[in-house]
Amino acid sequence: MAIVVQKYGGSSVADADRIRRVARRVVECYQQGNQVVVVVSARGDTTDELISLAKEITDNPPEREMDMLLSTGEQISIALLAMAIQAMGYPVISLTGPQVGILTDNVHTKARIQDVRSERLMDELNQGKIVIVAGFQGMTPDNDITTLGRGGSDTTAVAVAAAIKADVCEIFTDVDGVYTADPRVVPRARKLAAISYDEMLELASLGALVLQPRSVEFAKQYGVTIHVRSSFNYNEGTIVREVTDMEKTMVVSGVAHDLSVAKISLFDVPDRPGIARTVFSALAKESINVDMIIQSGMRDEMNDISFTVGKDDLNKVVAVMSRVKEETGASGVSYEDNVAKVSIVGAGMITNPGVAAAMFEALADAGINIQMISTSEIKVSCIIDASDTYKAVKALHEKFGLDNSIEEPDCCVAS
Ligand code: ADP
Ligand code: ASP
Ligand code: MG
Repeated sequence: MAIVVQKYGGSSVADADRIRRVARRVVECYQQGNQVVVVVSARGDTTDELISLAKEITDNPPEREMDMLLSTGEQISIALLAMAIQAMGYPVISLTGPQVGILTDNVHTKARIQDVRSERLMDELNQGKIVIVAGFQGMTPDNDITTLGRGGSDTTAVAVAAAIKADVCEIFTDVDGVYTADPRVVPRARKLAAISYDEMLELASLGALVLQPRSVEFAKQYGVTIHVRSSFNYNEGTIVREVTDMEKTMVVSGVAHDLSVAKISLFDVPDRPGIARTVFSALAKESINVDMIIQSGMRDEMNDISFTVGKDDLNKVVAVMSRVKEETGASGVSYEDNVAKVSIVGAGMITNPGVAAAMFEALADAGINIQMISTSEIKVSCIIDASDTYKAVKALHEKFGLDNSIEEPDCCVAS
């Protein structure tokens, strides 16, 4: 008997028909003799709607209360899915994150899972029940509800799979696998049969929404095999695992884009030791993740420092930067949220000089201006104007020979 963890994303449980469809798929897996744990997200756009609702009340909702609010979305889904399975005549129970023993730190809205105390879950499974778990939520040591950051149900699924030593963690979504670029943006993107944890982690961290980066980190750490597939068809999806023979010859294995970034520039800060520490330790204290950082060449003993953060953190960043501006004596700060990050990812890049140059050439040929650049051994990222994003992704996809000869016909079918 295998232990299977299945995770269904928001679009897969958007309405009653889709919930019944998921129920049938879960029951199929159970009937095959597996022990089945199902992690579900909030239905459709529920999480976005709850965020808008909070913003109607206040511009700056307290993060603890945001978690209290957002966690309700998943709670609706688990109850409805459990009802659908129960109506089909199968034993089932729904459990919230805290009931499953998902313990997190206390960083509200982007908490990290510290432990999964899975006794209750195993107990229910061993009684022969299908267990439905609310994704995206956990509990602090003080019993406060937390959420795991956008897309966090993926991480719930992988963490639970690791804790109960599941044989596989299937992530069901609205596309049938991981593609060389977002197939909604690049219709000629190709599905990858397999991808390594490291490449998947880069793609996910650089904006490929299909898996939350933290879920890939967990999978790598605990050796969980992930199968990304569609809940709308039975196509083989993409296996995420340690090493793959696939695509070894590809210098670039994927292109990612991220529209959820903001760029901050601090002007005319004195060129002396300790300035970067002042700026970035103030941001770190507020748990704000900083991504790219550029310090301009010095002129008149002054520097400009630019960096990027997630748009979600912009309110907090504005508050921190107004203090930092005073402390450093900077002449001004600017905030830009009409930017995007486009990236190329590939393990083959390390040994191939000229990949970054080819990327800049593709962007230049498309008439796209580059505002910031960062590189690592397996990726190159550029910040560009948000309006150029799709043009850039398509140009890069073509430049690195990733285009399929035909458009994928049903990767994104959602019904
Ligand atoms: P879910 O609600 O099921 O968690 P998400 O919207 O979070 O689904 O993630 C699935 C989406 O990820 C797809 O609809 C697709 O547009 C997007 N996506 C971005 N990059 C990729 C990629 N490289 N491969 C597949 N999907 C991608
Ligand atoms: N509902 C949450 C979100 O929209 C978590 C998830 O879907 O994974 O981000
Ligand atoms: Mg998701």
